[in-house]
Amino acid sequence: MSDRADNSVLNLAVGGIRALKAYEPGKPLAELEREYGITEAVKLASNENPLGMSALASQAIIESVQSASLYPDGNAYYLKQALSKHLSVDDVRIDIGQITVGNGSNELLEIIARSFVSQHEAVMYSQHAFAVYPLVTQAIGATHQMIAANHWGHDLDAMLDGITAQTKVIFIANPNNPTGTYLDSALLYAFIQKVRKDIIVVIDEAYHEYVSIDTYVSAMTWVAEFENLIVSRTFSKAYGLAGLRVGYCVSQNVVADVLNRVRQPFNVSVPAQAAAELALSDQGFIKRTVDLNAEGKSQLYSAFSDMGLNYIPSQGNFIAVDVQRNVNELNEALLKQGVIIRPIEAYQMPGYIRVSVGMESQNTQFLSALALVMSESECIV
Ligand SMILES: *Cc1c(COP(=O)(O)O)cnc(C)c1O
Repeated sequence: MSDRADNSVLNLAVGGIRALKAYEPGKPLAELEREYGITEAVKLASNENPLGMSALASQAIIESVQSASLYPDGNAYYLKQALSKHLSVDDVRIDIGQITVGNGSNELLEIIARSFVSQHEAVMYSQHAFAVYPLVTQAIGATHQMIAANHWGHDLDAMLDGITAQTKVIFIANPNNPTGTYLDSALLYAFIQKVRKDIIVVIDEAYHEYVSIDTYVSAMTWVAEFENLIVSRTFSKAYGLAGLRVGYCVSQNVVADVLNRVRQPFNVSVPAQAAAELALSDQGFIKRTVDLNAEGKSQLYSAFSDMGLNYIPSQGNFIAVDVQRNVNELNEALLKQGVIIRPIEAYQMPGYIRVSVGMESQNTQFLSALALVMSESECIV
C-alpha cells in the first residue's frame, strides 16, 4: 500500500520533507516580553550585531523607499560592483560574474544543495555544524554524511576518509557555528586540494570579519584555483543587516552561472541591496564591531572562568559554554529573567548553551542572570 493511501495529507509531502524538523530560531525579543510580561529583556541568541548597523546603511534603507515600488535589480549590479571592489585585494581578483547574491546566505546554501545534489547523492558536514546543512540535505531527500568532530572542531582527515562515491557537496563553516572553532588555513587548503574535483566544497565564512588569527587566509583567496569551491558570506552578522536578508557567495563563473539559474530572479529586496552596498563602504563600523566583540569575549571568558565553567574559545561573535545543567530548564529560568540565549543540545552538545557577545551591559545582565539561575538549579555532572 502506498503512503498516499494513508489518509493523512502529511503523506503527500515528498519523503525528505516528511522527516524534516523545522529550524528553531532564537525567540524574538518582543515575543518574550509579551509572553512573560517583562521589559528590558536582552537577546543574545542569534549572533546579531549589538551595535545595530552602519548609519550609512540605515540611511540607504530610508532612501531606497523611493524605488521600492519597483522590482529590485535581479542582477544586483551595484551591490556586486561594490563586492567585487571590496573582495579584490592584494592578488585576488573577484569579478561580478563570480558573485551570487542570496536572501541571506542560508538561501544560497539551499540553492547549492538543490543545484548539485540529487536524491541518491550525499551531503557531508561535521558533527556540531550549522543546523542549516542537515536541514537542506533533508529537504532534498539526500543522504547525510555527518562526520564526528575532533575536540568540537572539524576533523578534516576523518572527512576525507568519509568521502564516498555518493558525496556531492561538503559544507564547512569556518569559523564554525555553534562551537566557534576555527580551521587552520593551511590545513583547510590542503583538504580542498585532496577532495575529488567532482565534489563541491562550500566554505561558509559567515563569521569571517571576526577572525583574529594571524595566519588566517580567507578561502576566497583560493577560488581562482578550484573550480569546485564556493565561499559564502553574509551581511547578517558583523554588518548587522540580519533583518534584511542578504548574503552572497563567490565561485568561478561556471558555478555562479548554475546558481543563478536556480535563484529566484528578485530574491534580494530593494532596501537590502541598497543597505548592503553602503554597509560595505563603512569599514570603520566593522572595525568598531570587531573591537567591541573582542572586549565582550574577554569579559565573558573571564566571568566563565571565575564561575568555573568550561567554554570553547571562539573566533566568532558568540561563545559555547558548558553550564553543567539541564539546559532546557536553565533556558526557561533565563527567559524568566529576561535573557534569551540558545540551548544547543540539538547540536549534540548536552549541557552547553551558546551566548552571543553583546554590549558590556548586556553581557553583564546575562552573567548576573546566569549566576542566579545556576545557584538555583542542580549541577548534573
Ligand atoms: C548566521 C549564519 C549564516 C548566515 O545566515 P543568513 O541567512 O545570511 O542570515 C550562515 N552560516 C552560518 C554558519 C551562520 O551561523
